[in-house]
Amino acid sequence: MTVPVLLTFDLDGEYVWEEIYPGIPYWTTQGEYGPKVGVYRILKLLRQKQIEATFCIVGQTAEKYPEAVEAIIKDGHEVAVHGYTHKGYNELSPKQEQAGILKTREILEKYTGKPIYGHRTPRWRPSQNTHKILKELDFKWNSDHMGTEIPFYNTINGEESRLLEIPVSYILDDWNYYYDWGTPPKYVLDVWKVEFDARLMNNNVFCLTNHPQVTGRPSRITILEKLVDYMKQQKTTFMKATEFTNQF
Ligand SMILES: [Zn+2]
Repeated sequence: MTVPVLLTFDLDGEYVWEEIYPGIPYWTTQGEYGPKVGVYRILKLLRQKQIEATFCIVGQTAEKYPEAVEAIIKDGHEVAVHGYTHKGYNELSPKQEQAGILKTREILEKYTGKPIYGHRTPRWRPSQNTHKILKELDFKWNSDHMGTEIPFYNTINGEESRLLEIPVSYILDDWNYYYDWGTPPKYVLDVWKVEFDARLMNNNVFCLTNHPQVTGRPSRITILEKLVDYMKQQKTTFMKATEFTNQF
């Protein structure tokens, strides 16, 4: 058995901060670091390790930083919708939510020239309508749920749909360690290795959520590199999210 490893990167840009601290450079410049600097460091690492990954991109970020999106696509990575703004959908009306998803998909499809199948809700806060909207728009996967490690098809209006949920986890998210808790990088590597070993033992998928503005920093990229090297020594298959969905 091999463990599917999904490296996912949420390219939020400054919009993740604009909603909390609008116009304050102390925060917004940290966000800009993602599409301006961090993403290129991550792409370089993925090229070196010959891994194709999944980038969930905020619509406004895709409009403001075309070079970053083009570089991601040029390297063969998957791109997925991550809202038009970075507001959780629980803060939007159903109309705003649907319009934002559609608009962002159109923006990304202009870059790829191909259909976009994946979605992750900003702040991992879907509304009660999110799965229904995604199903109606023919998305194949969503990635917000933390209640299990095992992927499952979402139930919509009482019926199992074909919208695959790829679970995420608080402990497999770089943001919490580095921004919220100030965890030293070496400890983050330890936690991720232990979690990977456990997923391997239990034959679970390993879905890591990293952010270019967080892990794209010079010290933190070395942690991702060490983790990738560790996982490559085991029975793993690195996959893009839609690849994983199609073979599920
Ligand atoms: Zn995000």
